[in-house]
Amino acid sequence: MAFKELVFSGVQPTGNLHLGNYLGAIVKFVALQERYDCIYCVVDMHAITVWQDPAELKRSIREVTAAFLASGIDPKRHIVFNQSQVAEHAELAWIFNCVARLGWLNRMTQFKEKAGKDRENASVGLYAYPNLMAADILVYRATHVPVGEDQKQHLELSRDIAQKFNNDFADSIATLGLGPAFFPLPEPLIQGPATRVMSLRDGTKKMSKSDPSDYSRINLTDDADAIAQKVRKAKTDPDPLPHDEKGLETRPEADNLVGIFAALADRTKADVLREYAGAQFSSFKAALVDLAVARLGPVGAEMKRLVQDPAHIDAVLGDGAARAGVLAAETMRAVKDIVGFVRR
Ligand code: ATP
Ligand code: MG
Repeated sequence: MAFKELVFSGVQPTGNLHLGNYLGAIVKFVALQERYDCIYCVVDMHAITVWQDPAELKRSIREVTAAFLASGIDPKRHIVFNQSQVAEHAELAWIFNCVARLGWLNRMTQFKEKAGKDRENASVGLYAYPNLMAADILVYRATHVPVGEDQKQHLELSRDIAQKFNNDFADSIATLGLGPAFFPLPEPLIQGPATRVMSLRDGTKKMSKSDPSDYSRINLTDDADAIAQKVRKAKTDPDPLPHDEKGLETRPEADNLVGIFAALADRTKADVLREYAGAQFSSFKAALVDLAVARLGPVGAEMKRLVQDPAHIDAVLGDGAARAGVLAAETMRAVKDIVGFVRR
């Protein structure tokens, strides 16, 4: 069965947005606006799966929204809102808590990484996070989900949940004339040279908001001096740049910097290496600084301008939530009928 094509994705308001979020997700969100109807969500309910200071959370929700707008997401043609304003996300997540199996969630690597050694003390929300993510996507019956490589496993779980719901309730879906399948199996869109931007301090670790070292990441709001310092200090090896991508295979830090360069310049890694083959990192890093400052400077400046006017940002989120809410409510009414709940 053909579902209407629709893009959904989210970003957590959990701290400083970084180059990985920008290249792995936000740049893709912007490009997809031309071809699809898109819903972009600031997933504040995901954020509280680990402790967030309330005042800081509010600031962060507005900052992620500002990053969306500053990067070129159009909240009039598409939908931008924060998750907690559309209660149907949580409502559908509960149903999915009853569809997903413990064994499925036990395999999720993000939970293992984030819970760390003290698993007994992790929130139940952190464990159930992938079910809420499935609900975020499927409450709009979205078909395409642009994400970084780290979210691939969660997307696969979303597909499993959609499939099991469709199977478990197949008779009910058919009786109500809503079938053969009620939910689409959402497809991950993970493409390009920067689907997994690594830490500048350690080429084997993902660049992350939660890394204690600010030198591990380039934040969207970093000024030119900070970007220059972080790139100059970025870990590398002593060899010059290789001639082709094969030469990057055993050099995670070099691979990362070339990937960042390629994504910022809208080129392939092979193309970048054709230009810089044999170059020392000192000259490559200088070119990377210029490129990063040119690309990120205007975005950071516009973010800083937008967050000065929280009332405007809140109005954008309110308008988006109202429009998203209409779509989500329609899905939830059908889901309640399918499951067998009595409703007004
Ligand atoms: P947290 O540490 O709080 O999970 P995060 O940096 O992983 O923060 P998220 O809000 O969880 O950010 O993710 C937002 C989007 O950015 C997702 O699509 C995710 O896949 C993508 N993303 C996150 N980190 C990277 C990275 N290092 N490279 C590419 N994409 C990334
Ligand atoms: Mg994350």
